[in-house]
Amino acid sequence: MGKKFYITTPIYYVNARPHIGHAYTTIVCDTIARRQRMLGSDTFFLTGTDEHGQKIERAAQEAGKTPQQYADEIATEFRKLWQRMGISNDDFIRTTEERHKKRVQELFRRIRDNGYIYKGHYTGQYCFSDELYVDGAKPGDPCPLCGRPTETVEEENYFFKLSAFQDKLLELYANPDFVRPETRRNEVISFVRSGLRDLSISRSTFSWGIPVPDDPKHVIYVWLDALANYITAIGYGSTHAGAQAAFEKYWPADVHMIGKEIVRFHCVYWPAFLLAAGLPLPKAIVAHGWLLFEENKMSKSRGNIVRADSIIEVLGNDALRYFLLREVVFGQDGSFSFDALVQRYNADLANGLGNLASRTLTMIGRYFAGEIPTASPSAVDNSSGNAIAEAAQTVISEFSALFDQFQFSRALEVAWSLVGAVDKYIVENEPWSLGEKQDEASRARLAAVLYTSADAVRIVAALTHPVMPESTARIWAQLGLGDIRKFQLSTLQWGQLPGGIQLGKVEPVFPRADKSTIERMQQMENEGRAPAAAPVAEAQATSQPVPSPAEKLPAAASDGKITIDDFAKVDLRVGLIKVAEKVKGADKLLRLEVDIGAEVRQLVAGIAEAYAPETLVGRKVVIVANLAPRKLRGLESNGMIVAASLEGGKPVLASFLEDVPVGARLK
Ligand SMILES: [Zn+2]
Repeated sequence: MGKKFYITTPIYYVNARPHIGHAYTTIVCDTIARRQRMLGSDTFFLTGTDEHGQKIERAAQEAGKTPQQYADEIATEFRKLWQRMGISNDDFIRTTEERHKKRVQELFRRIRDNGYIYKGHYTGQYCFSDELYVDGAKPGDPCPLCGRPTETVEEENYFFKLSAFQDKLLELYANPDFVRPETRRNEVISFVRSGLRDLSISRSTFSWGIPVPDDPKHVIYVWLDALANYITAIGYGSTHAGAQAAFEKYWPADVHMIGKEIVRFHCVYWPAFLLAAGLPLPKAIVAHGWLLFEENKMSKSRGNIVRADSIIEVLGNDALRYFLLREVVFGQDGSFSFDALVQRYNADLANGLGNLASRTLTMIGRYFAGEIPTASPSAVDNSSGNAIAEAAQTVISEFSALFDQFQFSRALEVAWSLVGAVDKYIVENEPWSLGEKQDEASRARLAAVLYTSADAVRIVAALTHPVMPESTARIWAQLGLGDIRKFQLSTLQWGQLPGGIQLGKVEPVFPRADKSTIERMQQMENEGRAPAAAPVAEAQATSQPVPSPAEKLPAAASDGKITIDDFAKVDLRVGLIKVAEKVKGADKLLRLEVDIGAEVRQLVAGIAEAYAPETLVGRKVVIVANLAPRKLRGLESNGMIVAASLEGGKPVLASFLEDVPVGARLK
């Protein structure tokens, strides 16, 4: 085995089912891990799930489950999806596992023993969605990360002396490889330069977490808990010799792959925790952009979350992997759409590599009885064949350099330049005409042309095997080369294809996708969404103020759009909350009295878990004023308050930036 290589995905928060965004991060890491294995590195690839925190506790409660049941279900979905997708992770860590909990406590102890943890008092604003304290915010101020209103919390907490690490962190960022890409590095530098305050690293207002050692009233801050997975999974803090040896071998990580929204936690807090514990730092933290759906951010409330399942079912794992790595410029936001997926699949895979492989191998079958021809040096020595050989050598080195700089899209573009060059070469040399002739010179040229094409196919297959493991393995076997996993990528060069070997069974690897492909995937998505949407719709019936589109939009046109007249039927008004109080026996409900200009209405709204009654009085909100009255817990509700419905079910009230008069109509 060569050098070691350790790569991690973020561990995924179990507040949401896996979607294509999670798949993207995991596929990128899987591709890198596979390439490292092919290069002979002793590779360890880690993924897992992040399962603690108040958000999970709340979501579980809403779903009528224990937090552990809730986490078990979602963690299982992640694990099963990665299996279906052929992800090659070496371990799957869950933060609710015993091994993790014990080792996190060990990390906490060590940081405390080193003098970087103290007890203090905190009053301030907190974003429950991001599990983040917001320094300097006033009650009701929005969270700087997600824009949701912060909530006031008051706690006695353990604090981490983050302020002690400001200079050391800035020194660290001087290394341009530590945080990538450059834009994220600059963000982090300016955040740290603006000054670091000590960080509260325990909570006592809820219990779903890992208890602080020797003070179990407190649980450890979910981010300290979660980030530690990168070391606990490989044995940090274990008393077993084997685990300790694994930690010694694999730590520090070579790459922490993350999404751009969690840069601060990984590039500021995590290295500071490690420095405080006296542990080595990761070599690189690499942030990718967001995967959008048709240019929009995917979200549950938009109903546009795409799952990987339908795509892998219809087009296969490799199509999704290739598309994501080729289409998204790594580090920037990328857009997913079924149209683009199918277009890319047909152009690059079905008509590109797939077609080149199948026509080359079919002709070898026809003209050389399925035996790779041996190209004599004089026959190979023609200028166009030489040009292909040279191009292939260049592609091998450029692909590798680009790939190792995380420029996957460019790397694949370079590999496909070889596919394009060989296509052109075949057209120019007309092997089908050469095949009609029996003279020796024509036979020799035919052999040279087909050998050149076949060796180019072999090189593209070897380079892109980490990206498309299944289909390149099939191409490799069809070339008669056996098991691609045994190939040492570092030895790859032109001309290694042995003449005289017999081809395997030749079959198309990427069948062309037609229009029905998109329809099938979309249909599966729609079917898949229904069960996911059900609990939300159910919650809406009793508590959520947002109408479900199917039930509220009358006389929808065939394309799902409504006319302006339809919209005008909904009387939306600005209201002022005069009275807000809890409803006895209903945790989620508040009774409100809302002034809508002409009258004061009583409303019952399912927002009690998101808003304390006293914070609502005097607030302006949006009311659906002409909704038929209904009874909730014996109270008549005359209208509905409008709110955004977020993941995890938490409502956020619609409001105005400018001052608006009470009773004004929205239209
Ligand atoms: Zn937030």
